[in-house]
Formats: sequence, structure tokens, C-alpha cells
Amino acid sequence: MSDHNSNSEDMKRILAGLQDVDYQDKTVLVTGGSGFLGSWMCETLLNKGAHVICLDNYASGRPENTDHLLDHPCFTRIEHDISKPFDPERKLDLVCHLASRAGPLEFEHYPIQILKSNTLGTMHALGIAKKYNARLLFTSTSEIYGEAEVFPTPETYRGNVNTLGIRGCYDEAKRAGEAYCMAYHRQHGLDVRIVRIFNTYGPRMRSDGHYGRVIPRFIDQAMQNQPITIFGDGTQTRSFCYVTDQITGLLRLAGLPGLAGEVVNIGNPVEWTILELAKKIIQLVHSSSTLSYGPLQQDDPMRRLPNIDKARKVLGFEPQVGLDEGLPRMTEEFLI
Ligand code: UDP
Repeated sequence: MSDHNSNSEDMKRILAGLQDVDYQDKTVLVTGGSGFLGSWMCETLLNKGAHVICLDNYASGRPENTDHLLDHPCFTRIEHDISKPFDPERKLDLVCHLASRAGPLEFEHYPIQILKSNTLGTMHALGIAKKYNARLLFTSTSEIYGEAEVFPTPETYRGNVNTLGIRGCYDEAKRAGEAYCMAYHRQHGLDVRIVRIFNTYGPRMRSDGHYGRVIPRFIDQAMQNQPITIFGDGTQTRSFCYVTDQITGLLRLAGLPGLAGEVVNIGNPVEWTILELAKKIIQLVHSSSTLSYGPLQQDDPMRRLPNIDKARKVLGFEPQVGLDEGLPRMTEEFLI
């Protein structure tokens, strides 16, 4: 695992995008803080001078993602499942609720836990924010749009979700999470911000078993010269955002003033077919892998493309890292 301290190129890039956002001496609770995005968020906040309480039950997050932060004087790590009540007993400025399994291959195995972390977990996170008069960032998802019919998809699109399908546990839980946030915002005046995260990749993303998402799975398969497992015919599309851009967007949304009750898409609006992605990865790692085709998963969206006009306007957000730069950065991790 490469060292992602404040001197790493990736961290420098995130910090450059946050120069006008102040986290100095703020206390932030990050649920899912040892997950892929959570660990980047904790580390960035520490580099911005914040005190960070990282909460994780290690369902899909991994302790090793934050082990290197344990010596930091402003970092506290607690093992806890946010779908059960929690009180930090400490004044907070911000709660970032990231805790949830997010991989479609996990939906089949853990649907109840996924529902709980985004409904009960969101309710608990909101309760904590209310008690300590803190702001809350809820990480929602492009999945709330389901099989979208409008492209690029703006925040005003209301979605086309199959409540009964395999993805329903995630999509509907995130939709309920958004409704919880707006309820606390309206009824208690809580400063909530909702981000709809589109496919994101980068170092610390899992490639193993049912945790793996398409990019780490394909890199892993290509590096081992094993067949690349294309689900369906590979004509479905995704738009991939590198982790430094995603974290910059999240922490701009959480940290800038005047955004209470706002919902913002964060992603990279460049669309790729899964087949194009597979070929790119094979070429990048000089692999002899072949393509193997299997069945498309139920309700796998055929297109996903964010409209990020709102993020551009209210956050000054602009993705900096395309696949041609991000993929090689990610493969470095697999070589260590
Ligand atoms: N996919 C694939 N092979 C794999 C894993 C994923 O073809 O081994 C496809 C999947 O069917 C989907 C896309 O890649 O269309 C993105 O899948 P991922 O699991 O990363 O997340 P999703 O975007 O579906 O939430």
C-alpha cells in the first residue's frame, strides 16, 4: 500500500482543491471512516487541521485503511455499527455519514445491513448532528436514479427504481436516507447537505470477492492474466470519477457556507462502455487476459452519466483526473 500522507501527489491535489474551505480545529465524525472514501476523507480532514472521530464496524471497510493515522494526535478511531445508537460525547461541528456497503455484488448477501446503515444509521447520524448542533453530510448515490431515462442525469430527475429487485435494498435505503435528511432539515432546521456520488475509483478500493467493483476487479484480473469478467455484452456505460476529485467535491459541499438542504451530483461526466474500460485496462497493464462474457446482473443500469452543472455552479467543482491518468495511479497500488 502506498503512503498517502500530505506529501503524496493525490493528497496534494485534494488539498489544492480545498484551499478556500476551512476545517481548522473543527471536530468531524466520519461514519464508515475506514472504508475507501471514508479513509481518504479522514486523512484529508486531518491535513486540514480538523479533529477526526472515525467510526467503522469493518463490514466492508478495513482497519488497515486508517492504521497509518492512529498516531495522529487529532485522530480517534472507534469500532461501532452506526445502525445502533452512538453518542460521541464530544462537541461536533460536522457529521459525515458514509457508512454503507456499496458494491452491487454485496447486495445479494447483506441486504438487511445495507438497509439498516442507510435508514437507522442515517437517523442516528442525524440525531447526533441535532444533539451537538452540527452540520451533516449524507452520502447518497447515483443509484437513487435507478434505470435513469434522462442523460446526463440532473438532480431534478426523480428516478426509476425497482423496489423489489436485488438493488432495491441500496437504492431505496439511500432514497429513505435522503428523505430523513430533508425531514431533519425542515423540522429541526438542521444544516444537511446531500451528495449523490457517481462511480468513483482509486487506491484503497477493494478488489476481493463480492466487495470488488468493476475497476479494481478488472485490474486484478488483468494483472493475473486471467479472463476479464464482462457482465452482459459490455455495452452498458459508467462515468468514472477519480478519488481525489470525489473527495474534493465532498469536502467542498460539506465545508462551504450557504448550502443547507442542497443536493448535488458529484462525478466525472465522461462516459465509457464497460468493454472500452476492459480493453483500456488490458492495454495499460500489458496483460494477456481474454474477455469472458457472463449474464448481466438484475437491474444493472445500462447507462450512468452525471449532470454536474450544479456542482460546477455551487461548489466550483471541476474533475481534474481522467481515466488515462487515474487508472495508472490505481494500478501502482496493485504492484506494491
Ligand atoms: N461489471 C462487469 N464485470 C465485473 C464487475 C462489474 O462487467 O466483474 C459491470 C457491471 O455489470 C456494471 C459496471 O461494470 O454494469 C459497474 O459495476 P460496479 O460493480 O462497479 O458498480 P455499479 O456501477 O453497477 O454500481
